[in-house]
Amino acid sequence: MLVVMRQDATPEQVGRVVSAIEEMGYQALPLPGRQRTTVGLVGNDGRVDGTRFEGMEGVQEVLHVSRPYKQVSREWKPEPTVIRLPGGVSVGAGEVVVMAGPCSVESEAQILAAARAVRDAGATVLRAGAYKARTSPYAFQGLGKPGLELLARARQETGLLIVTEAMDAEGLTAVAAVADIVQIGARNMQNYPLLRLAGRCGKPVLLKRGISATIQELLLSAEYILAEGNPDVMLCERGIRGFDTATRNVFDLSAIPVIRELSHLPIIADPSHGTGRRDMVTPMARAAVAAGADGLLVEVHPNPEAARSDGAQSLHPPQFERLMVEARAIAEVIGRRIAEPAGVK
Ligand code: PEP
Ligand code: MN
Repeated sequence: MLVVMRQDATPEQVGRVVSAIEEMGYQALPLPGRQRTTVGLVGNDGRVDGTRFEGMEGVQEVLHVSRPYKQVSREWKPEPTVIRLPGGVSVGAGEVVVMAGPCSVESEAQILAAARAVRDAGATVLRAGAYKARTSPYAFQGLGKPGLELLARARQETGLLIVTEAMDAEGLTAVAAVADIVQIGARNMQNYPLLRLAGRCGKPVLLKRGISATIQELLLSAEYILAEGNPDVMLCERGIRGFDTATRNVFDLSAIPVIRELSHLPIIADPSHGTGRRDMVTPMARAAVAAGADGLLVEVHPNPEAARSDGAQSLHPPQFERLMVEARAIAEVIGRRIAEPAGVK
């Protein structure tokens, strides 16, 4: 439930609404907006009588949020969530943030070459996994902690921010100590204990859609993170499982406008896992920018043929350079721009 205050409501009147909610045994979440403050009631089990608030001074109206997810919904917060990253880059503020790099951190030489290549092409965030969730237990599982140290070195050398995946509680502590954005992978989208921990990790979270997850399930998973007090969540469409094997996954482009309508959280598109094929990554990246994505997550490898994971969908650096040129052009058409690397503005 949402208690919408009048534009001229005083802080005392807001305070009385907060106290009334707390007296009823629920959590009150004041949400100051540009025009007015709204107070959210968290923990509503369906038995709250809103009429009690309607008569209070300073209250304009009481809205019942009908969707199963609350804090991630547009009803709850009409303004887009803007996630401020170190160095002045913001996600969700209108600029398209490009995160690029190899699937996995493999060696110092590999990650530094990848970082330099994506920075030179204009990316602002370096992506690479130190902990990898692989379908086969015999496939490369990532370098673990040493991989995180290499990512920190790449950031120091290039100024790029870092997004990297955490797969379990122990890894989350290590990842959150290094990363600027913590990635929760598709396979862990419904790992609820991990989502709760991500809600307390102190870093923005990039939550990838599970391969068979509905958009409602994705939003409910994000709700776990917000419910623990972390408002900085970006959602990621990375393809879902379909019946056609022509592509690795079915890249659900329509998820971008659907999510923008249902939620205030930024939405990032991953055309690499979305298609699984290098030749299709750039067309789908262009489409995602045109569809209104707040960012792109793209796999780029200095030598994809030698990649230890996802080589077939990793772009060669010159292909990524071209993608950036085209993404800039598309962004301009819809009145947006690609975020510049920190300090380049
Ligand atoms: C990745 O980003 O490399 C990855 C493993 O993604 P997903 O969780 O979407 O499969
Ligand atoms: Mn990958």
